[in-house]
Amino acid sequence: MYKKLLCLFLCLSLFGCGKDLNNEQVDTIIEEHENIIIAINTPTTGIKKLDKVVSKYTQDKYKNFVKNYQNVKILNQKSELNIDYTYSLVNERYISIAIYEFVNSSSLAHPINSIKTFIYDKKSKDFLSIKDIVKDDEKLLTTIKDYLYKEYKDCLLNNKIKLSDLKYFVLNDQSITFFFNPATIASSSCGIITITIPTSELPLSIKIEENNKKNELPTYNEKTKTIDPNKPVVALTFDDGPSKYTKKIVDFLKENDASATFFILGNKVAIYEQTLITMIENGNEIGNHSYSHKWLTKLSEVELKNQIEKVQTITKEKLNYTPKYLRPTYGGINKKLRSNTDLEIVLWNVDTMDWKIKNSDKIASRAISKVKNGDIILMHDTYERTFEAVKKIVPELKKQGYQFVTVSELKEYQLLNKNLESDYE
Ligand code: ZN
Repeated sequence: MYKKLLCLFLCLSLFGCGKDLNNEQVDTIIEEHENIIIAINTPTTGIKKLDKVVSKYTQDKYKNFVKNYQNVKILNQKSELNIDYTYSLVNERYISIAIYEFVNSSSLAHPINSIKTFIYDKKSKDFLSIKDIVKDDEKLLTTIKDYLYKEYKDCLLNNKIKLSDLKYFVLNDQSITFFFNPATIASSSCGIITITIPTSELPLSIKIEENNKKNELPTYNEKTKTIDPNKPVVALTFDDGPSKYTKKIVDFLKENDASATFFILGNKVAIYEQTLITMIENGNEIGNHSYSHKWLTKLSEVELKNQIEKVQTITKEKLNYTPKYLRPTYGGINKKLRSNTDLEIVLWNVDTMDWKIKNSDKIASRAISKVKNGDIILMHDTYERTFEAVKKIVPELKKQGYQFVTVSELKEYQLLNKNLESDYE
């Protein structure tokens, strides 16, 4: 009995019984099938009650989409589900999560957009509705109506907004944003109606503290890496991250004097800021893989630009870093994509199929058996098996004389080797 109690005590004090309290992560599902493609990013907070509800919501969306679209065959046009999110924490207490659903299919007249939000109070350990945070319903509704009228006059179906219409909102440290799904208070062609109102204009029953912490921008020392032009090189590239496995990969690469290129999703930058800073400090490269993994070649020009530019903006703002390369989602390239970005497009020569093959030995042997000098290997840092495969690939190829370089270093090497060759002529 004593032993049991001691174990329990140790477990609670040392490890919190395995609970990673308030540790935000992002769970990623990216799949490509015969008729459908799916990209889902779901934030997790370490708070079981909240994570369970949010995860069930996105899982249900996944199941519904698969059921409705997996057998829809339209002239080689796949149907697409994309789930994106925003996350914020105010007063170190109120967590706001917004989940955006986007369905695009040739069987639809227009893509479907919808939103759902979750507000969780860490103190009361419960979800909040708008009623829990306002003290004057009438004043709130008048303010919201004013904003709606100012910004969406031509979209509104009528001017009768009720408290029960205010289902979806998120808190920020200076404002509250309210969302209305298409065809609820406005015509569906206007999409999701979004209004942001400063907290100073709202009759709130809670006090929201402004976050005055100014984050200092990181600076990086120029890394000088010597690459032997007489030895082969290979560029490992990782898509769809960062994730909880990325830091382990970054550390392993450092221990092995290897660098790689990570084609990241912009919507994960805020949560994995520190991992990304370490990544750059260690001499790795960051590339752009879109903001939320929408199928770029299928988007309107405005949305396409938005998906690419938002990554450039957030990496500059948070990481003091500007990606030079774009890896298009699902490897898709067309004229519209090329003419809407100045970034150089980078694909791959060796596909490890790590998203499909669930065995790290098989993933590693695909890479090792197929690679040749100057190749770019495609992997995904969103799986533990990929980290396990990296631990096999790097030492084996190093033994064969390979140097692990970033895409930029690979391009320099190729240029240098061209010059060397012409010297010999
Ligand atoms: Zn991808």
